Amino acid sequence: MDTPPADALFVDALCSGGDFEQIEILKDQEIGLMGFIAIHSTRMGPAFGGIRRWSYGSPGKALRDALRLSSHMTLKCAIHGIPGGGGKAVLDWRPGTDRKAAYRRLGEHVDAMGGRFFTGPDVGTEPEDLRAVAEATSFVTILGEVSGPGDLGAATALGVFAGIGAAARRIGRDDLRGAHVVLSGLGDVGGRLGLLLADAGARLSVADILEDRVEEAVRRWGATAVDPRRAHAIECDVFAPCALGGVVSEATLPELGARAIAGSANNVLATGACGADLHRRGIVYAPDFVVNSGGLVQGALSLLEGAPPPPDRIAKIGGLLDGIFADSERDDLPPEVIAERTARARVDSAPNRIYVPNRP
Ligand code: NAD
Repeated sequence: MDTPPADALFVDALCSGGDFEQIEILKDQEIGLMGFIAIHSTRMGPAFGGIRRWSYGSPGKALRDALRLSSHMTLKCAIHGIPGGGGKAVLDWRPGTDRKAAYRRLGEHVDAMGGRFFTGPDVGTEPEDLRAVAEATSFVTILGEVSGPGDLGAATALGVFAGIGAAARRIGRDDLRGAHVVLSGLGDVGGRLGLLLADAGARLSVADILEDRVEEAVRRWGATAVDPRRAHAIECDVFAPCALGGVVSEATLPELGARAIAGSANNVLATGACGADLHRRGIVYAPDFVVNSGGLVQGALSLLEGAPPPPDRIAKIGGLLDGIFADSERDDLPPEVIAERTARARVDSAPNRIYVPNRP
């Protein structure tokens, strides 16, 4: 079999990079299935992570994403002191794949892990897909189920709202009344976040590639529409990226118009150097894995404790960020470095073992 050079290099990088506990390969030619489940760490408890379905174009890219996302889930649990760890499932989607059979097979893999990995929604995975997973395992969360953890997108939005409040405090505002927030991405999270911000009296500028979403925001919240390609450059108090990652890059850094950045998007910083640059320039950055962790808090605590946490548990993300910003100033280090250092120290202080669920 011809191995693309990029994938071969990736396997080398995988073996020399950070720690990972388990990689499950999901491959079935009859179904047309290609994907992975990556378990980054269960030192602190069972792993949590959704299912991402995406046309990556190569197994190497899909695996790389699974590893990266699963390590973020470990950090999210650790920063909240949740006794859980990080995992992620990715499906490298190809035309002709039998969707229901693919999700069901994924469910069989999850079930065989016996409770080491709890999964649920992520980009590209619909409730119907999760129902197919649930035919094979109970270790899955389906949104909308009465007994489930509730609306994870709303929980994420609540956490980002608390994070924006902390970012605003950091730049000297008492509250969000009259604060100018640029919100880019009006989907599951951004749509709900906009409502919370409007209710809090923020002045909103909004961007999306879908015009009807922008029109609705203008109509309902009195927001100003801005070009999605220029949202990062608008002068404002807080820029809230709630669409794609990589919005703070070498190209956009010189153009940034915000005093603070706090949004739901994963991987907001294109590179670590971009974070250092923001810190040098005095632009407050709320680390993505902290500010967008409301859904994880809601989902993981619902499973671990048997009931969804109260909303004030998610709002604690604001206080968590206040502490991270204070430590960032004290140690003169970017907030994401502080947050990662705190989370990693918690994981490292747990016994170095893998989680084995209790079996009946
Ligand atoms: P979504 O797909 O529901 O919404 C994304 C929105 O962004 C859509 O309205 C889309 O049209 C818009 N968009 C796409 N490209 C854009 C661009 N270039 N400029 C402006 N808008 C653009 O996704 P979501 O669930 O709201 O998640 C948003 C982000 O938050 C993603 O990066 C996701 O990974 C992250 N996130 C989501 C959750 C959650 O609970 N849903 C949790 C953690 C992190």
